[in-house]
Amino acid sequence: IGANLARIAAAYPDHDALVECASDRRWTYAEFDTAVDNLARALIGVGIEAGDRVGIWSPNCAEWTLVQYATARVGAILVNLNPAYRVHEIEYALAQSGTRLLIAASRVKTSDYPAMVAEVRPTCPDLERVVHIDTPDWPALLAEGADVSLDRLRAREATLRPEDPINIQYTSGTTGFPKGATLSHRNILGNGFLVAEIQGWTAADRVCLPVPFYHCFGMVMGNLGATSHGACMVIPAALFDPAATLRAVHEERCTVLYGVPTMFIAELALPDFEAGKYDLSSLRTGVMAGSPCPVEVMKRVIDRMGMTEVTICYGMTETSPVSTQTRRDDSLERRVGTVGRVHPHLEIKVVDPTTGATVPEGSPGEFCTRGYSVMLGYWRDPERTAEVIDADGWMHTGDLATMDADGYVSIVGRIKDMVIRGGENVYPREIEEFLYGHPDVEDVQVVGVPDARYGEELMAWIKLRPGAPELTADALREFCAGRLAHYKIPRYVHLVDAFPMTVTGKIRKIEMRERSLELLT
Ligand code: ATP
Ligand code: MG
Repeated sequence: IGANLARIAAAYPDHDALVECASDRRWTYAEFDTAVDNLARALIGVGIEAGDRVGIWSPNCAEWTLVQYATARVGAILVNLNPAYRVHEIEYALAQSGTRLLIAASRVKTSDYPAMVAEVRPTCPDLERVVHIDTPDWPALLAEGADVSLDRLRAREATLRPEDPINIQYTSGTTGFPKGATLSHRNILGNGFLVAEIQGWTAADRVCLPVPFYHCFGMVMGNLGATSHGACMVIPAALFDPAATLRAVHEERCTVLYGVPTMFIAELALPDFEAGKYDLSSLRTGVMAGSPCPVEVMKRVIDRMGMTEVTICYGMTETSPVSTQTRRDDSLERRVGTVGRVHPHLEIKVVDPTTGATVPEGSPGEFCTRGYSVMLGYWRDPERTAEVIDADGWMHTGDLATMDADGYVSIVGRIKDMVIRGGENVYPREIEEFLYGHPDVEDVQVVGVPDARYGEELMAWIKLRPGAPELTADALREFCAGRLAHYKIPRYVHLVDAFPMTVTGKIRKIEMRERSLELLT
């Protein structure tokens, strides 16, 4: 990763590498490469060895990316810490990863990071030093590099190998407690490069990244995709903020925009967007990933935002992350109905989760992948690693998928989310897709709730469009009648303003199920 950045900086020294909209700070590739060197020398100066864990606990900011590349350059293992973590989670992650140096924000909204760090320090014996980014700690850290020569840094770099672990990424925690996927240079640089390559990026691209860096979406598909092509990383003034995102695209003339479907839905719903206040004519492509994208949303992203070449990716933290992607010239049907086809240099298959046999074309089964992108393992957890990576190197994803004759894959849902109602397998995704067609529905999620008679029943959580009249369960069932098989029609409707989400912008169905159950009892 470090060598790749140096190569790009030599090829495009004057190109923008990084823009932080909140502060209007900018780095060219030459400046960025030097800044990374300086921070890398500081890491050596404070005694960071190859393989040591360095944690980064901050919302997206320029320093985040500097830390990302500087740790890679000295061979340290970057530990991505979710900025939404509070005392309980940060303590777990710091202790579990054995972090020696923590680089953290100081204050974010109402959260006081130094106080939280102070609280957990006694139970994190490996933690030697804490640096808060926007305080005098930061220049003090950089000063530690003064006596470390570039030659010494280069000598360190020469010892690093592509298969070395350099990153621990905790999974989203959508289905339970986050697991620390341990990834190598080859894992993530290879994947970031290919995700961008498939979108046809060049050094002229400017990439708007409103997605979190602590997650593979921002750090790998975004940052590593950009720096492996000489493209520019643009950090909007606020994370997951639709207005700040569109403003960044407008002001920085971004050609690429990333997001999860929920974010695109929010951007499209902005009154200022409707009023044509943002000039988005520079936009060409991007990635929508993380969860299924409703057809209507995809159409509007293409037609109204001008992202004519937008691609869909499917993947998971454990596979660096992307395994399948739509191609630029794929039809609309493929870009809404599938998650694309296999990435270069990878193998995929769809198997019966109980027998392990490959299922017939078009039948649902567990999606499995094998190749360079499969993680090294879960950090210090060989048992859970063995549960997901089999003896032949196949990663079992826990996702249900189908594959067509051309190799295009559709995600049907997670094995854990599948509902069994009266003996019939129901995939909530299909019902959600159908309900998006209701004129009053802005967003919808469907979960199973226990039922004495049928085993499980369906509950639809619905966010109505502004001004839409109240929607009753009866009215919704009437809308579905005759158009959905009877066992797929939700029995319950729950109107909401928002869904419980992970900080990566994913719907936490596990929490929805718990709350749905409470609503019924
Ligand atoms: P945890 O493993 O902690 O429960 P998580 O699986 O949500 O959380 P991630 O690794 O961030 O953590 O997400 C990967 C998952 O996201 C995939 O396994 C899949 O279920 C879902 N996913 C990713 N891309 C898509 C997509 N394009 N369409 C549908 N689902 C997707
Ligand atoms: Mg997962």
